[in-house]
Amino acid sequence: MTLVLCSRNEHKLEELRTALPGWTIEPLEADDYPPEDGGTYYANARGKALFGRREAPGDAWALGEDSGIEVDALGGEPGVHSARWSAAGRQHRHLLERLAGVPDRRARMIAHLVAIAPDGRELDAVGVLEGEVASEPRGTGGFGYDPVFVPEGETLTVAELGDDWKRASSHRARAAAALRAALEAATGAN
Ligand code: IMP
Repeated sequence: MTLVLCSRNEHKLEELRTALPGWTIEPLEADDYPPEDGGTYYANARGKALFGRREAPGDAWALGEDSGIEVDALGGEPGVHSARWSAAGRQHRHLLERLAGVPDRRARMIAHLVAIAPDGRELDAVGVLEGEVASEPRGTGGFGYDPVFVPEGETLTVAELGDDWKRASSHRARAAAALRAALEAATGAN
């Protein structure tokens, strides 16, 4: 069974491959991807999956993913705007600047996955990782906000915890675990 992921992000691909054993997950080969201009993670993830459905081989499932970080002290921002909130590569620094002197560091990472079957059936799942924003960047793993995000129950940032931790425990891994059950029910696989 093949899932075609509508994303160029290698980190996401690897996390999803680990979380969905038994599925072959390939990146979608396309020149352009749809714009992420929906108001929700679900709308953006579904837009990517629908695009993938049109472009992917007819017998594969199409998978769309959208994710972001929601910061309590910023009223939930950047949320669905996380990818465009700041220039790529300095997103976590921008977040630290916005939270300078702010004692409430609570935040969560959220991922929404939408899978569309060859016959058009749709499945979706959400994963949430609660935590807080660190006072300075630490670690070299992951991407995006990982150097400044400390998951609940941990003292290290996600970038310090590393790729194996992420593959097992990230918001995306949690969404994929929920999606896996639905995929198995839909396909009769186990
Ligand atoms: P997307 O590719 O449109 O889903 O954008 C997601 C954005 O949210 C990324 O550019 C990152 O800024 C942030 N993000 C999503 N997942 C993660 C993660 O696992 N670690 C760190 N940042 C993430």
